Amino acid sequence: MKYILAIDQGTTSTRAIIFGKNGKASACAQRELQQIYPCPGWVEHSPKDIIASVMAVTSEALSRADITAEDVAAIGITNQRETTVVWDKTNGKPIYNAIVWQCRRTADYCEKLRKEGFSEKIYNKTGLVADAYFSATKIKWILDNVDGARERAERGELAFGTIDAFIIWHLTGGKVFATDYTNASRTMLYNIHTLKWDRELLRLFDIPSEMLPEVYESGHNYGNTNPALFGAAIPICGVAGDQQSALFGQLCINKGDVKNTYGTGCFLLMNTGKKAVKSQNGLVTTLAACTSGKPDYVLEGSVFAGGAAVQWLRDELRIISSAEKSETLALKVKDSGGVYVVPAFTGLGAPYWDPEARGTITGITRGTSREHIVRATLESIAYEVCDLVEAMEKDSGINITRLAVDGGASANNFLMQFQSDILNCEVVRPATIETTALGAAFLAGITAGYWQSTEELNKNLTAERIFSPNMPQLTRISMLSGWRKAVNKTLT
Ligand code: ADP
Repeated sequence: MKYILAIDQGTTSTRAIIFGKNGKASACAQRELQQIYPCPGWVEHSPKDIIASVMAVTSEALSRADITAEDVAAIGITNQRETTVVWDKTNGKPIYNAIVWQCRRTADYCEKLRKEGFSEKIYNKTGLVADAYFSATKIKWILDNVDGARERAERGELAFGTIDAFIIWHLTGGKVFATDYTNASRTMLYNIHTLKWDRELLRLFDIPSEMLPEVYESGHNYGNTNPALFGAAIPICGVAGDQQSALFGQLCINKGDVKNTYGTGCFLLMNTGKKAVKSQNGLVTTLAACTSGKPDYVLEGSVFAGGAAVQWLRDELRIISSAEKSETLALKVKDSGGVYVVPAFTGLGAPYWDPEARGTITGITRGTSREHIVRATLESIAYEVCDLVEAMEKDSGINITRLAVDGGASANNFLMQFQSDILNCEVVRPATIETTALGAAFLAGITAGYWQSTEELNKNLTAERIFSPNMPQLTRISMLSGWRKAVNKTLT
């Protein structure tokens, strides 16, 4: 009896999950990751801690499942995207901390790029907006600021990788220097149309091509782990960035399939098939995980404050004692009583793009209660997702009739029902909401021949609950119009 092991290296923790043939998790181990804030707006991780956590959770998960490395058919890796590590090719030692995707240290430089008119070129090649979020300007920062780094990079002594590549390097004992399409497509250096590192962008950011990893399909035999690590060699057969991994874990592998992850923020991804859709609404275009051939394209949009709005109710307003309680409170009132919360804590993203906007509560009357505010906050998450869905429908010309959901806040039944009502579409919550890890496991398992086909996987992906729309059309229109008015009051 063999298993698949998924390593999920996220922003706040590293996890290893062991999956069986039926796609169910049989053991899990987790380590928190220390966040390093050297100054306001900067975020780093220790790459050494990341590797140590990967080793620790892998060994712990094996022992919890009471199995050995020989019982594992393949490893799948999924990771926080864009986070950047530069290391020495001779010994694997990082020359600086990992610069995390959230880190804003290169925001001014990106602003300069946009002012100088580079946005369109960057978008046309990479599908991304010129932003500090993506890896390119983080690599440039390291080369410009670490003593001797640029010279060493030019001599071919240094390697750049997103977290997946850094983990692969260490698990294979420095033998394999590779990443996958999904991670490469978030670096702002990879041409998603030619599927090559883009020479012109490398020149623009002054990054030597010797630093870059090979790029493969997400489902690919990347190489074996060093047998000394876990007692036997295990092939690494799946690699994908977290959001694309979740898309694969939801088996959104056909054109028009959409999933939304309700975490701290929300990430909406649509598979648009072999066509890269250009967005007129501020969405980005990126690559999907695939197991062979050319990858599909994906439209992606994100909401900055999703579950974070619920955290705000709990930690700052202190009107709920736990995230789960928000559901009970919201259901105590028949509606939000005309209250709208716009949780624009750090500005509004797609389709509004107003970084200066700040949160607002509108429609408060003498009768407004905490239940109304809680309900309106949950509703706001659904409205934000609804705005993204509309933008995506406009860009793709595809009508979304089914939304696959996952992430922590997807456990909230009120939120999911309201989402279905306000979108007027089915919302499908799978039995395993660990779809990020499941996606990496699926990719590895298919590549290793552990599972034969995506049809077989489909049997493993049972819906735990399907929410069907149940709101009169007129109510829906009037509620959406109330939301738009509230957003307009928020925009600067
Ligand atoms: P991340 O991966 O971004 O850390 P998770 O997928 O673990 O996020 O989800 C955590 C988020 O979901 C938190 O912001 C939390 O407030 C929210 N959340 C968790 N459970 C619920 C719930 N039952 N109702 C509403 N929000 C919830």
